[in-house]
Amino acid sequence: MSAPNKNYDPVQVTPLNADEVEHARADALAAIEKAADLDALKTVRLEHAGDRSPLALANREIGALPPAARADAGKRVGLARRAVSDALAARQGELERERDERVLVEEAVDVTLPWDRAPAGARHPLTTIQERVAELFLAMGYEWSEGPEVEAEWYNFDALNLPPDHPARTTQDTFWVTSPDSGVVLRTQTSPVQIRTMLRRRPPIYAVSPGKVYRTDELDATHTPVFSQVEGLVVDEGITMAHLRGTLDNFARAMFGEDMVTRLRPSYFPFTEPSAEMDLQCWVCHGESVGNPDRACRTCSSEGWIEWGGCGMVNPRVLVACGVDPERYSGFAFGMGLERTLMSRHGAEDMRDLVEGDVRFTRAFGTEI
Ligand SMILES: [Zn+2]
Repeated sequence: MSAPNKNYDPVQVTPLNADEVEHARADALAAIEKAADLDALKTVRLEHAGDRSPLALANREIGALPPAARADAGKRVGLARRAVSDALAARQGELERERDERVLVEEAVDVTLPWDRAPAGARHPLTTIQERVAELFLAMGYEWSEGPEVEAEWYNFDALNLPPDHPARTTQDTFWVTSPDSGVVLRTQTSPVQIRTMLRRRPPIYAVSPGKVYRTDELDATHTPVFSQVEGLVVDEGITMAHLRGTLDNFARAMFGEDMVTRLRPSYFPFTEPSAEMDLQCWVCHGESVGNPDRACRTCSSEGWIEWGGCGMVNPRVLVACGVDPERYSGFAFGMGLERTLMSRHGAEDMRDLVEGDVRFTRAFGTEI
């Protein structure tokens, strides 16, 4: 074991040489100054202030110096290390402030930007009005009946008392699935559902059937080859025209408002006898435009009334075709176009808007729940 070094000779311990310490300090401060971000500063901290940094190694050498030299070297190394650690802390603070300011700018949220770039659609107004009709009749104790849209000719025509030579059966009115001999049609009305209901079970029957029907019309402002109907059928003992009238008045008031005035006008349908058209009093002019050119009304063409649908007492021949005894039972039926109901209710003027699927129309009219 060698004796302690008694000479005052710091030059012998190279890392503690004043120039070396100063060099290490200057290197560290320059690197700290150059560190461009917090990650870079972390690396600099390891290199210049970590356990294996030149100044840390120098610090470890102090004990090897002769006692007389230790204070001097210790002070020099200590000052250098403190300078480095102060510079690190200062740079750390600077870089954190820069980062925070950058985050504020880069991650700022502009609350005035539009947020609804992907607009949600809306339920189609025909769907909502159909459900409204359903709720009304279900509340009155009716059942909801549905049937096929591809229908046998017998259900669509024969059972409804339309004879084989009836003009409605021609290809000008009816879509035949293959040929007029096929006996299969796209149903032209929802009435075959009523036939199916009567064949399925015995009276009393209170049924309402909505659905799509098809006719060979061109698509224009007032026609469409596919449209929606809702039909009602009641078969029970002692049913009279008064029941029909009361039911339709209730229906009209529910759809168009409590003050809606209706009228029945004699008409003809093969499957009802007697038959009637139901009109609604014009809700714009309340009939005051009739014979009054100064107050012309576009909504009703100054006629005072707007057609809504057909109705009547079920023809006994239809009851017989369905195996119902007309001596015991009577019934009524009615049918309305839902498109027309919707157009009247909302003032929509063009039938094409209802079928083209433009979301601007649906959103305007289809949000009703
Ligand atoms: Zn009018």
